[in-house]
Amino acid sequence: MESAVEAELRRQIMAWVGERAEANGGFLRRDELLDFHLDGEKLPVIDYSRGIRNPASFGSTLSIVSTPGRYHDSEMSEDGLLRYAYRKGDPWSGDNRKLRQAISTGMPLILFRKEIANVYTPVFPVYVIDDEPENRQFLIALDESFTFLHDPRHLTQPQREYALRLARQRLHQPAFRTRVLVAYETRCAICELKHGSLLDAAHIVPDGHELGAPTVTNGLALCKIHHAAYDQNMLGVTPDYEVRISFGLLEEVDGPMLKHGLQEMHGRRLTLPRRRGDRPDRDHLAWRYESFDATVPRTTT
Ligand SMILES: [Zn+2]
Repeated sequence: MESAVEAELRRQIMAWVGERAEANGGFLRRDELLDFHLDGEKLPVIDYSRGIRNPASFGSTLSIVSTPGRYHDSEMSEDGLLRYAYRKGDPWSGDNRKLRQAISTGMPLILFRKEIANVYTPVFPVYVIDDEPENRQFLIALDESFTFLHDPRHLTQPQREYALRLARQRLHQPAFRTRVLVAYETRCAICELKHGSLLDAAHIVPDGHELGAPTVTNGLALCKIHHAAYDQNMLGVTPDYEVRISFGLLEEVDGPMLKHGLQEMHGRRLTLPRRRGDRPDRDHLAWRYESFDATVPRTTT
């Protein structure tokens, strides 16, 4: 296949994957990924058994699968680049050949991160930027700018910081959203809205705080409006899983969004994940609730 044709086809595949994932809330389920059609023919965009998807007509790899540890990225190193192990066998032929080919063609790939059984978070475009034959692994970057580096194996401090920041935005935050949305069965914990594209994973203890880990027990699946209201302390959640609306908002008179969307949520109980181990940490909720509670006006005597 001519490389311009292949590049265009990749673009179409990525657009399709992106749309599907966004409709679900940032992830795809196993069977959906076999659903891409080209001229009436099925073109699988993932290879579940081998991990490396090399369509016969493509000059370089289309997608790779990685399975990170549950709460951290085992494949992520301190420089913010990913390491992807060679397939077993000859490093110069088979699946490894087309993955290495991606270094010279510069063609973008899709990384499918398997967060939970049968649930994949797509990250794209990613680029194969180098090869480490002595460790039998490839170096993968999350940004095209890394393909222009003279020596990707020795990043400067600013390059490293940039790579780590990218990893946080493009890998860790999407992975957190997937884990939380799946735990909450794609439903807002407050109002039960079930549209993945309108749902976020909210941190209970904020990201950046030492207790603010991107774990399911420090997360809540919330629709966009309830997420924003939570972050603004217009809405609080008690350690007993009850919703509180701020005093100021309860007093206000306005249209249906205020009335039904916010005021009527006051006193409601959260809709929790079925699995006990996925439910919000009460200590984290208590820590966060203090900052909400501080906004309630104190009555003077
Ligand atoms: Zn909601």
